[in-house]
Amino acid sequence: MSSKNRKTTRNFVKQRNQFFEQCKAENAVCWLCGMPIDYSMQPNTGDDSFNLDHLYPISKRPDLQEDPANFRPSHASCNNLRGDREPNLPIGTLSRQWIPSEYGEPKPAPAPKPKRLGVII
Ligand SMILES: [Zn+2]
Repeated sequence: MSSKNRKTTRNFVKQRNQFFEQCKAENAVCWLCGMPIDYSMQPNTGDDSFNLDHLYPISKRPDLQEDPANFRPSHASCNNLRGDREPNLPIGTLSRQWIPSEYGEPKPAPAPKPKRLGVII
């Protein structure tokens, strides 16, 4: 028995690149926080860069890893925060609760590393 879990196949790389180009063309926003994604960056090169998220995490549905219907555009940082948990928002609804600085609240900045968006919780 061979495990397909988290295996990055050539087909998946192709699908992922296609999905990136598609989202870039549509200027799709992050499905987790509803904020724009920086498509001038290469995927997975920074917090605001594009990251292919899976609606159903690969850990739960490895069979859907290469299914484009399971792909969602997200920020690399948002995808990291989500991990393998269920997203805490209904699909198709934008949540701004992730971005307290959007409401004009002063953002405490204890992190030594400069961040472009206040997406760290
Ligand atoms: Zn996001």
